[in-house]
Amino acid sequence: MSITPQLQELSQSLEGTLLYDDLHKTLYATDASAYRIMPIAVAIPKSEEDIIKIIRFAAKNKISITPRTAGTSLAGQTVGNGIIVDVSKHFTKIVSFDSVKKIVTVQPGVIRDELNLYLKPHELFFGPNTSTSNRCMIGGMVGNNSSGTTSIRYGVTRDKIVEIKAVLSDGSSAVFKEMTSAEFIEKTKGNTLETSIYKTIYEELSNTESQKEIIKEFPKPKIHRRNTGCFDDFLIQFINFI
Ligand SMILES: Cc1cc2nc3c(=O)[nH]c(=O)nc-3n(C[C@H](O)[C@H](O)[C@H](O)COP(=O)(O)OP(=O)(O)OC[C@H]3O[C@@H](n4cnc5c(N)ncnc54)[C@H](O)[C@@H]3O)c2cc1C
Repeated sequence: MSITPQLQELSQSLEGTLLYDDLHKTLYATDASAYRIMPIAVAIPKSEEDIIKIIRFAAKNKISITPRTAGTSLAGQTVGNGIIVDVSKHFTKIVSFDSVKKIVTVQPGVIRDELNLYLKPHELFFGPNTSTSNRCMIGGMVGNNSSGTTSIRYGVTRDKIVEIKAVLSDGSSAVFKEMTSAEFIEKTKGNTLETSIYKTIYEELSNTESQKEIIKEFPKPKIHRRNTGCFDDFLIQFINFI
């Protein structure tokens, strides 16, 4: 059955754009990798509300979503057969900057080098210097845990993140950040998708068999760059990092 009528309906409800013509689908079927997968559609959301609508649509219609910023990934991270969600067009704001705490809040479509131009007068910079830094964006750097030649001295992307505001697969929002054990336990209480994430992690990690397996299989701690994989369950909207 064709999904076009549902896509038309979604398109009309968005502030941003939904593209499902052959030209745009072909353009977004590739990234910097060797892979090519034709998506169902390409969404260019303009607001948080748009992102929530796209995610709810995908969940309802059992379609995958693949967030994308600059698309410079080398292993096919931004190609998929569902909806490609391009946040590079409208989520490009540096939202706030605290020079005392050295924390900046950015949207995922901020280009790494442009962020550093902004920070330069304050004698600060965002460390990971990925080779593609004049086009890669913070959302993609978080997704890939991007590094670069200076990462041995200054750390990789995950070392710099203070918190991430995300939209979960049911359209609800959650903020992920470091927390104490007591705060973690508090987060497991309730019946939301967010609490179920914490509950699942708690249950999985309480299992002694899993604990043994993790200790046995954990990569050498000396190798600091360990990729995170893909955040397909949520889109990052604001990222703070030191
Ligand atoms: C020539 C070349 C050199 C490279 N050199 C390096 C290097 O030195 N170091 C290095 O680490 N990498 C390198 N890369 C890989 C790549 O450029 C980097 O990982 C880059 O930081 C990815 O950023 P991007 O904006 O292109 O992300 P994308 O490719 O668009 O996305 C990367 C991942 O993040 C996810 N993502 C993007 N936005 C969001 C969001 N809002 N919410 C949730 N998930 C999101 C995507 O789904 C995807 O899984 C290189 C690539 C090329 C082509």
